[in-house]
Amino acid sequence: MRVGCGGEVSGEVLAEQLIRLRNSIDLLEVEFSRMAGDFAQTDEYDRVGYDSPISWIKDVCHMAGGAAADRVCVGRQLDQLDDSLVALASGEVGFAHLALIAHTSAAVGERLDERNLLKQATNLSVAEFRTKCMHAKHKADPDGFVDEEKQGVEARSLTLTNTDEGVVLVNGLLDKVGGAALRTALEPLAKRAGKDDDRLRDRRLADALVDLAMHALDTGLVPQRTHMQVTTSLETLLGLSGAPAAEMEFSLPISAKAVERLACDCSVTRILLDSDSMVIDVGRAKRRPSGPTYKALKVRDKGCVWPGCDRPATWTSAHHVVHWIRGGPTDLPNLCLLCYRHHWMVHEGGWQIVRTDDGRTLTIPPQPFGRLPRGPD
Ligand SMILES: [Zn+2]
Ligand SMILES: [Zn+2]
Repeated sequence: MRVGCGGEVSGEVLAEQLIRLRNSIDLLEVEFSRMAGDFAQTDEYDRVGYDSPISWIKDVCHMAGGAAADRVCVGRQLDQLDDSLVALASGEVGFAHLALIAHTSAAVGERLDERNLLKQATNLSVAEFRTKCMHAKHKADPDGFVDEEKQGVEARSLTLTNTDEGVVLVNGLLDKVGGAALRTALEPLAKRAGKDDDRLRDRRLADALVDLAMHALDTGLVPQRTHMQVTTSLETLLGLSGAPAAEMEFSLPISAKAVERLACDCSVTRILLDSDSMVIDVGRAKRRPSGPTYKALKVRDKGCVWPGCDRPATWTSAHHVVHWIRGGPTDLPNLCLLCYRHHWMVHEGGWQIVRTDDGRTLTIPPQPFGRLPRGPD
């Protein structure tokens, strides 16, 4: 790599320079923080129309809110943190460590055990040290710690916004425990389903959230409300060309493929066929395997039958290989268990699922438009 007047600089020298430069920046950050702390004592931010000194710094100094808050906090606590400043000047800890010590100091006041905290900071990464600071806060001020958690719960929020295209934007904030509960529930569901599963992690997490909702509805975990209800015409359900889209509560109109999947077993409680102004209510009885059939299906398939998928039976739907709307019977040979994702792949995704005579399941990927599946050579 070339720098300055063009001389080669070795990695070792660069490393040394980086460390020194970072230390200089950290010292400048301390200076910035001292000034930010002093600024927060004035009412200049108020005079120019901001609601807090942090909002002013964030906006005018082009910083993220958390970074601005860190600096104000460090500035306010500096007088209590002599040892930490010495450690920062000598490069033993960085500014991010100092900010965590300052926040802990702000929370626990005189009960701060700075020496002990500093000893840990010198050996830990910033992320690891954050956990230690939480423990220190709890040790010094358990009530304050509970208050902070309460504030976290009070701050919970979730907004679900329907866009004009019918896509739902999800935006939310959870406290520590609530967030951990959600992650504990989602993480196992968001694992790759087999070696061919190439979905990215955020897609898998989103799929997991939908699975969780479907599972809660399918197993009756949601009190009061029964289930999704779809209104469709017979032509739509049969996938005839020129048929209108189907309608579902809380959603813009949905495709024939989606309604075919939802109607395949019990994902919707009622399907109202609205053809020629005639409404026929198709209840679960027609679509859902009877108790003994369903038991036998669970014993036979155990879980999702897609090769490589390990989703257990409780997280699956009973798929009709020949759809009931086309005369497929709701009995064992015409049924198989598919998890929500693989059920989607069969209906909307255009995959075919074939059961061989010896009980194995084969999957055939969707064929490009106009090309027929290849037969055996
Ligand atoms: Zn199905
Ligand atoms: Zn599956």
